[in-house]
Amino acid sequence: MVYSETKLTVISGYDLDGTICSETVWRIDGFMYKHFGMLWAFLRHIVAKPIMRPLENFIIITGRPASDRWYTELWLKMHRIRPKDLYMIPQYGSKITVANYKAKMIQDLNLKAYFENDVEIYTQLKILCPNVKIFLVHVKG
Ligand SMILES: [Mg+2]
Repeated sequence: MVYSETKLTVISGYDLDGTICSETVWRIDGFMYKHFGMLWAFLRHIVAKPIMRPLENFIIITGRPASDRWYTELWLKMHRIRPKDLYMIPQYGSKITVANYKAKMIQDLNLKAYFENDVEIYTQLKILCPNVKIFLVHVKG
C-alpha cells in the first residue's frame, strides 16, 4: 500500500460516486443489471465523467464493492486521477453499512477531512467521526 509512505503528510479523504465521479441513475438500470450484471456495471461506470479533481494528497474511500476494483482503477487511470490509495467496501451494502465502513476507515487512517455527497452518509459520518471535518459536497455532474 502506498499510504504508509505518505503517513506524515496531511491526507484528505474523498467519496467517489457523486463527488469525484459523475453518478447517473439510468432508467434501464434494473433491466440491464438483471440481464447483463457485471458487463452493465462496467459499461455504465466506464462512461462516467470526472466532476471534481482533488489537488492535494488524497485517498478515496468508496461504497463500491471490492469486486468493482479493476474498472474503478481503470477509470481513475483514464482520467489521471491519482489517489494515494483506494479503499473499497468488501461487499456491497446499505447506506448504513457504507457509512460505518467509511467511518472506520476515516478513523483508522486518522484523516482530518472527508468529502461526501450523500446526505445520509454525511449525517452518519458527522455522528461517528465527531473530531473529523466532514464536508457535504454538491458537485454538478
Ligand atoms: Mg457518493
